[in-house]
Amino acid sequence: MKKLMLVGAAALVAGMAQAAYPERPVTIVVPFAAGGPTDKVARDLADVLRKGLSNQTVLIENVGGAGGTLGAGKVAKANPDGYTLLLHHIGMSTAPALYRNLPYKVLNDFEFLGMINDVPMTLIGRPTLPPNNFAELRKWIDANKGKINLANAGLGAASHLCGLLFQQAMGVDMTTVPYKGTAPAMTDLLGSQVDIMCDQTTNTSTQIEAGKVKAYAVTSATPLTTPALAKLPTLDSQGLKGFYVTIWHGLYAPKGTPKAALDTLNAALRQALKDPEFIRRQEALGAVVVTDNRVNPADHKKFVESEINKWGPAIKAAGQYAD
Ligand code: ASP
Repeated sequence: MKKLMLVGAAALVAGMAQAAYPERPVTIVVPFAAGGPTDKVARDLADVLRKGLSNQTVLIENVGGAGGTLGAGKVAKANPDGYTLLLHHIGMSTAPALYRNLPYKVLNDFEFLGMINDVPMTLIGRPTLPPNNFAELRKWIDANKGKINLANAGLGAASHLCGLLFQQAMGVDMTTVPYKGTAPAMTDLLGSQVDIMCDQTTNTSTQIEAGKVKAYAVTSATPLTTPALAKLPTLDSQGLKGFYVTIWHGLYAPKGTPKAALDTLNAALRQALKDPEFIRRQEALGAVVVTDNRVNPADHKKFVESEINKWGPAIKAAGQYAD
C-alpha cells in the first residue's frame, strides 16, 4: 500500500513537471505607475501576448518608485517559474551607472526575452508656461535660471535621462521633481504644479494633440510622421546638435526560468509584435515596433549591454548617484 502511494506520488510529480506552460495567469511587473507610457505598452502587449500563451490572462502589476529599480528588483528576486515577468525600458541600462547599491545585476539576474519597441521623447511644458516654441523656451529658461522645475519618474527613468541631457545641453541646472511614473507627473504638469518634462510620445502625444500641454520638440533624428506629432521640430534642428534619445522597451524573466517557458514566451512575443492591431496602436502613439534581430534573446542582451556602455559615461559625467 505504502509502495503504491509512493509510485502514485512520483507519477504526480512527473506529471506536474511536464505540465504545459502556462497553466495559469502570467504577471508582467511594470516598474512605473499605472497609466504612464511603460504601463500603456505593457497593457497593449498583454492583450496580444496571451494569444501565444494558451489564452491565459496576462496581468499587469505596477511597482513604481526609485526610477524603475524597485520593480526590476522585485522581478530579479521572483520565483523563476515563468509566471512573473518584467517589462522595462532604457532604465535597464541607466540604473547601473546611477545606483551604487543596485539590488540586481542587469546582465546576470535576468533572462532576456526580446525587445518590444523604440519610442522617441518629447519636450513639453505646463499649459500656462509662457513660451510657445523652442526659441522662446530657450530665452525663458535663460531668464528663469534657478527657478525651473523639471518633472521625472526618478533617477534612472527615461524622463530623468532626457532631462539630464537637456540640462547639460542648455548648461542650466533645474530642480527635479521625482514621481513614481510619468502618469502622476503628467497630472501635475497639466495642473501647472511643475514646469517642464521630457517623456515618451506614448504618454504625451494625446495631450499634445488635444493642445493641453505646450509642446516644444521631439528627440528623434527626423520629425515624426505620426499625425499628432508631425509638426513638432527635432531638438537637433533647433540648435541642440546630436540630441537624440530613443527609449526602448523589452521583456525579461528572472534568471533561471525554465528554457521551455522562455521559448514559449519568446514565441508569444514574436507573434504579438506582428499583430496588426498592436502595431497600429503603437504607431498612433509615435512608437515603432521592433522587427529587427533584437527580438532574439541573445541580441536583446547584447543591445542592453551596448546601451549600458553608451549611457554610463554621460550619466557619470553628471555626477548623479543614488544609494
Ligand atoms: N516615462 C517614464 C520614464 O520617465 C516611466 C513611466 O511612467 O512609464 O521613465
